[in-house]
Amino acid sequence: MDSVDQDRLEDEAMIETRRRWRWSQEQIDEFLRERTRDREELRQELAAELRERESMEYERRHRDRASGPAMLDLFIPSVGETREQTCGVCLEDFLEGGKKLRRMPCYHSFHQRCIFDWLRFNRRCPVCRFAITSVEEQRALDRAKAEAPATCGDRSEPAKRPRQNPATD
Ligand SMILES: [Zn+2]
Ligand SMILES: [Zn+2]
Repeated sequence: MDSVDQDRLEDEAMIETRRRWRWSQEQIDEFLRERTRDREELRQELAAELRERESMEYERRHRDRASGPAMLDLFIPSVGETREQTCGVCLEDFLEGGKKLRRMPCYHSFHQRCIFDWLRFNRRCPVCRFAITSVEEQRALDRAKAEAPATCGDRSEPAKRPRQNPATD
């Protein structure tokens, strides 16, 4: 029985009781309107709370995820080039002409699908816990790159900087 059915049964029981108490039809209608309003408010509150909890849970679970570019940079070995013959995540053998493989910098290889699914939650190698670049580290690297002075070529144009006190000049 879902919650709507349950609500309806509850309401019917309450209406029955109130009729016995000799409530007028208007009083009963008003009572039902309030109950519906309360229920709707409660539902919205619960939904908002659930959304909040889900996004916190997502952040928590993905906090130590690997950066996307670092994942895409992982070497793609062919079956003969791997140190092991099985994927450490799904434990299936690597097959010639089978699923695409990726090798971590620690030289542990996995099916691409398996290791990518893993790295989205945890940037450490499932076998030896070697860590690849995290999303946070990637952001710091990108920022450093963007802020570094341009050193190549003969472009004399100075890097554009935001004016210090735009309000005073
Ligand atoms: Zn696998
Ligand atoms: Zn490893």
